[in-house]
Amino acid sequence: MKVKGDEYFCRINYLYQAAETVGDAYPCLGKHYGKILRTIAEKTPAKLDFTLKRSLCKGCNVTLSTGSSFTYRLRRRKGRKNRPTQIITCKGCKTVKKFPTVDNYRLRAERDGTIL
Ligand SMILES: [Zn+2]
Repeated sequence: MKVKGDEYFCRINYLYQAAETVGDAYPCLGKHYGKILRTIAEKTPAKLDFTLKRSLCKGCNVTLSTGSSFTYRLRRRKGRKNRPTQIITCKGCKTVKKFPTVDNYRLRAERDGTIL
């Protein structure tokens, strides 16, 4: 079965793996590959999977999957029913991603019956 945008998914997968592999040794090259794959996802029918989308920095397009490219911490604030917030900070451009932690929370893409 042919999937719409199949060749673009292959290209996005290749570029993500390349960005992840060379990202530590050559950060500029990793950012360049990240920029290209984000551009492909924006201009073609192939959209980024939520796991890929969450592991790319919005500021500099570097992959946040290796430990040397980001810092991870949990912040607990008063009045939030004692639920901490995940805070992921890119070391390159200091862009911050915040994800709430909720019990039994599942993304829309992870729920049963969702067709992507
Ligand atoms: Zn960044």
